[in-house]
Amino acid sequence: MNHFEYRDGVMHVEDVALPDIAAAIGTPVYVYSTATIERHIAVLRDGLAGVESGPAGPWIAFAVKANPNRAVLATMARAGLGADVVSAGELLRALAAGVPADKIVFSGVGKTADEMALALERGVGQFNLESEQEAVTLSQVATRLAIAARVAYRINPDVDAGTHAKISTGRSDNKFGIPYDTAAAAYARLAALPGIDVQGVAVHIGSQLTDLAPLEAAFVRIGGLIADLRAAGHVIRTADLGGGLGVPYDPSKPLPPNPADYGAMVARVTRGWDVRLMFEPGRLIVGNAGILLSTVVRVKEGAAHPWVILDAAMNDLLRPSLYDAWHDIRAVRPDGARFVANVVGPVCESGDTFATGRTMDRVAEGDLVAFMTAGAYGATMASTYNSRALTPEILVTGEEWAIVRARQPIESLIAADALPPWLQEEIA
Ligand code: PLP
Repeated sequence: MNHFEYRDGVMHVEDVALPDIAAAIGTPVYVYSTATIERHIAVLRDGLAGVESGPAGPWIAFAVKANPNRAVLATMARAGLGADVVSAGELLRALAAGVPADKIVFSGVGKTADEMALALERGVGQFNLESEQEAVTLSQVATRLAIAARVAYRINPDVDAGTHAKISTGRSDNKFGIPYDTAAAAYARLAALPGIDVQGVAVHIGSQLTDLAPLEAAFVRIGGLIADLRAAGHVIRTADLGGGLGVPYDPSKPLPPNPADYGAMVARVTRGWDVRLMFEPGRLIVGNAGILLSTVVRVKEGAAHPWVILDAAMNDLLRPSLYDAWHDIRAVRPDGARFVANVVGPVCESGDTFATGRTMDRVAEGDLVAFMTAGAYGATMASTYNSRALTPEILVTGEEWAIVRARQPIESLIAADALPPWLQEEIA
């Protein structure tokens, strides 16, 4: 459920009419709903209410990569969530948004020694390590700083998540984690490293999962590993079950599993594990909490269908070009008529295509359209390709809204490039 609804024929986000935002800020612009974020957090918490997770309850760490805007992260922090980060930049953003360091998990397949040192100095709650080489480096950094590193290995359970190949992470031919089959031996070597405090196990098999079966298969393997590790004398206090739960993009498709069903499965599979469970949801929390608002620049005739050319492009919303992602595209003021169109951006790539042969609200030059379910992996993947400024972002709560990322002036983009001495005279 989200808080983007039509009132008197005009799409609103909570109590704010989208045309008001467009008039004030221009387009393209991302618009997020606080109420929707908070509702998704509550629905996930309710879904997990029945899991055994020790006195502190589940540790829910929002996957910052899904939406790293500081105001969005501050909304998560205010709701008591931690953060799952994969770079020094994400770590600093989470801290700057008020996420306590001990609620932060540092994931990622290529952490550098400098990033590890920063994370140790700031006191992150857990490192999810992805290789034995990484463990050796962390041990060296932790020993040098005399700060014990609390760690888990991310296990690659060799399970097919059944999602798009580019967001599948739990098969043996993916770069992520250490193999399940050799994990026990890897933990034995891990425990012997100085500066390392073995704390738990972790798994994350992919994103936009629409079936619970692969998740369950992965969790069953993790449960078996926990038992083996304990039998070998390790103290296992945490089990990080990752993120990955899908969200509805296409209203004509079956709904992905809801958090209640997910929570029931987790409760059943993890009963008796005697650990603190950790979760790293991203898309589930923010996907349906954001839209990308755009204006139709013009409609051009096409061989099969008209081309609806928008002022938003692949640099603003990469998902359709990157992995054929489907976003519902709606008129902000629909007049009831429908047509079949190709929806594209102005970037000079044929891949700058949002939809082909799409039956949608009829729109004309100057109309506003909304890309639904654009709150996750939207603005965070934006680039300045074709020298287009980074997309601004707005956060709404009730009747209030605020710019949480200003439109970047093109001049600042140009000024960021420096001229070498031998070219400065030419330009002056
Ligand atoms: N945790 C890790 C390690 C990830 O790589 C990701 C994203 O792929 C997530 C959590 C969040 O996934 P999602 O947004 O599908 O919940």
